[in-house]
Amino acid sequence: MKKLRYERPIINKIKAGVPDKYGMQTKVKIRTEIDGVPVKEIVEKYGSPVFVISEKTIRDTYQQAYMAFQSRYPKVQFAWSYKTNYLDAVCKVYHEEGSWAEVVSGFEYEKALKNGVPGNKIIFNGPDKTDEDIKNAIENGSYIHIDHFDELYSIIRLSNNSTKKAKVAIRVNMDTGVYPKWDRFGFNYENGEAWSAINRIMISENMELVGLHTHIGTYMMTANAYAVAASKLAALADRTNKKYNHSIKYIDMGGGFASKNTLKGAYLPGKDTCPSFDDYAEAITSALINSDIEPDKLPVLFLETGRALIDDAGYLIGSVLANKRLSNARRATIIDIGVNILFTSFWYEHEVYPAQECSQQTEDTTLYGPLCMNIDVIRESIQFPLLQKGDLILIPRVGAYNMTQWMQFITYRPNVVMIDKDKNLHLIRKKEDLLVFKQQEIVPDFLSDQFDKL
Ligand SMILES: *Cc1c(COP(=O)(O)O)cnc(C)c1O
Repeated sequence: MKKLRYERPIINKIKAGVPDKYGMQTKVKIRTEIDGVPVKEIVEKYGSPVFVISEKTIRDTYQQAYMAFQSRYPKVQFAWSYKTNYLDAVCKVYHEEGSWAEVVSGFEYEKALKNGVPGNKIIFNGPDKTDEDIKNAIENGSYIHIDHFDELYSIIRLSNNSTKKAKVAIRVNMDTGVYPKWDRFGFNYENGEAWSAINRIMISENMELVGLHTHIGTYMMTANAYAVAASKLAALADRTNKKYNHSIKYIDMGGGFASKNTLKGAYLPGKDTCPSFDDYAEAITSALINSDIEPDKLPVLFLETGRALIDDAGYLIGSVLANKRLSNARRATIIDIGVNILFTSFWYEHEVYPAQECSQQTEDTTLYGPLCMNIDVIRESIQFPLLQKGDLILIPRVGAYNMTQWMQFITYRPNVVMIDKDKNLHLIRKKEDLLVFKQQEIVPDFLSDQFDKL
């Protein structure tokens, strides 16, 4: 007979199927499939851990968001926020749906061009644009969103040598009633800096002021903040029109809509508390329609929604490496997903589901990642059943920021797979290997073959 594994006994109240003071406990939910494809099959083909993107969820969510705005306002244009997830396959789904590209660096700008986005459908944001970036953007007719006066003067200087006028907007920050204020990007509204930037642009021969932009924050829990922001941009547009008889072509409300993830320390789950696309759309479009802008001069409404569009389309599958008891008898489960690939675990309480049948008996458990680092904790405390080594787990809602902010640390970044509408699997980013790193590193001659020299 095979020797059974020994685990030090501890006393633990049996809770499965027994009511507590809130009534019956909920059943342990398991999730064995993504879009009808078994999790087990994905791991057999692509290993563990593995990121999975659902093409269907991307399209469905985009359509929902688009309809929320389009049904309330005549002219709406989304621009996909590259930094939220810039895997080419993901970007291309958004571009196919009609999204432009919103980029915040020369690297992302190049990526968008390579994805076939025409220069005049790229919005270039961010405080770090090199002279080269600005020249390219002017030549390609991209929309340059100016962050600070130094950039404004650079554009004037660089467009002196260009036959083309730079198409520009300014980024505006303002008090929206949400604190701390995001005032490190763009020109401030309340202190008059934004108005001053507008005047400088309007008297310059080299620039055409086409838009006004703001991005008031991220994971904004209140739609009203957008109403305040939209009113302030509308007031600037109206004032510009009155002074210069120049109508602003678009107002860009940036991103920042909350996804359905739950923030750490939140009392209720994000899916019950976050505003819907309809709530945000209602707030923004009401503010624009009710502003002093004349109806025939209503600007196109741009949105750079990132997180709320992609989060639900991303999944992370992992497996259990080991179970152990901490010195205080608390149960710990070690999984092969670390904070280096699940960056958002620093601020979200991610849901974690067993991906096969399991016991209904749960225990307060800490989920650790595989890194040799104390902060590698995926969940500090979760009611979780005892899984065995090799059992699979599924973490939903990881589509935003993880596949861009992930760090190569200790181990390779994993495969990313897309499930298409017909349930076919496609590898869209290969797991790294030693060659990837060899290609980047250079060992000086004097350090080669040191073992031969001994
Ligand atoms: C990051 C960013 C976005 C996307 O923000 P989300 O919170 O993911 O919606 C949009 N616009 C700008 C300028 C950004 O920096």
